[in-house]
Amino acid sequence: MRLDKYLANANLGSRKEVNKLIKKGEITVNGKIVKSPKTDVGYDDEIFYIDVPIILEEFIYLMMNKPDGVISSTEEGPTETVIDLIAHPQQGELFPVGRLDKDTVGLMFITNDGKLAHQLLSPKNEYWKTYHVTLRDEVTKADIERLETGIELKDFTTKPAKAKRLSPREVSLSITEGKFHQVKRMFLATGNEVVKLKRTHFATLTLDETLAEGGYRRLTEKEIKNLS
Ligand code: URA
Repeated sequence: MRLDKYLANANLGSRKEVNKLIKKGEITVNGKIVKSPKTDVGYDDEIFYIDVPIILEEFIYLMMNKPDGVISSTEEGPTETVIDLIAHPQQGELFPVGRLDKDTVGLMFITNDGKLAHQLLSPKNEYWKTYHVTLRDEVTKADIERLETGIELKDFTTKPAKAKRLSPREVSLSITEGKFHQVKRMFLATGNEVVKLKRTHFATLTLDETLAEGGYRRLTEKEIKNLS
């Protein structure tokens, strides 16, 4: 990509501002001063503004423990988004993969890798998502069977799921779909109500329980490899 685009994407300034720095001879690429904003650079080049390295990452992979009250979209508005919680110079490139309701907490995968996001969200790939569900009423054996077989909702019948009763009012539910309010609607159809919903697994990722709600960390090399 062009040097001025690289620098602007790394948040050194607007295109106009970084062009001035380049023209002033304050930018080096692999140890040499470059004066053309059109210079072709890549992620492996060593780029400095005077003596400050300007690092642009090609791919960023983060795991967040989404807190309650924050929305999982990238739209600007009055409500705080999961992206607002991330401090990274390339914050503007990041997006959450999939959606969780505002009051759902837990595992959210955040990246700038559109290809991987597409793969993970494609319904034909049927990645599993697991939720720890806390319910208003006790869950019966018959409810578990219905959840596992598939529940007829107004607009579709859910695909077979995996449901495990953890306590009278707690269930671990794994589904391959991700329709709007799906888990809440599945339990509503059994005459129950979800009072707390936490996602614990997404595809090959497991929520890092050491992350506080609102906390996030980079994926390990192993987690990235397993995911892609
Ligand atoms: N199902 C729901 O009902 N809500 C979520 O946030 C995720 C799955």
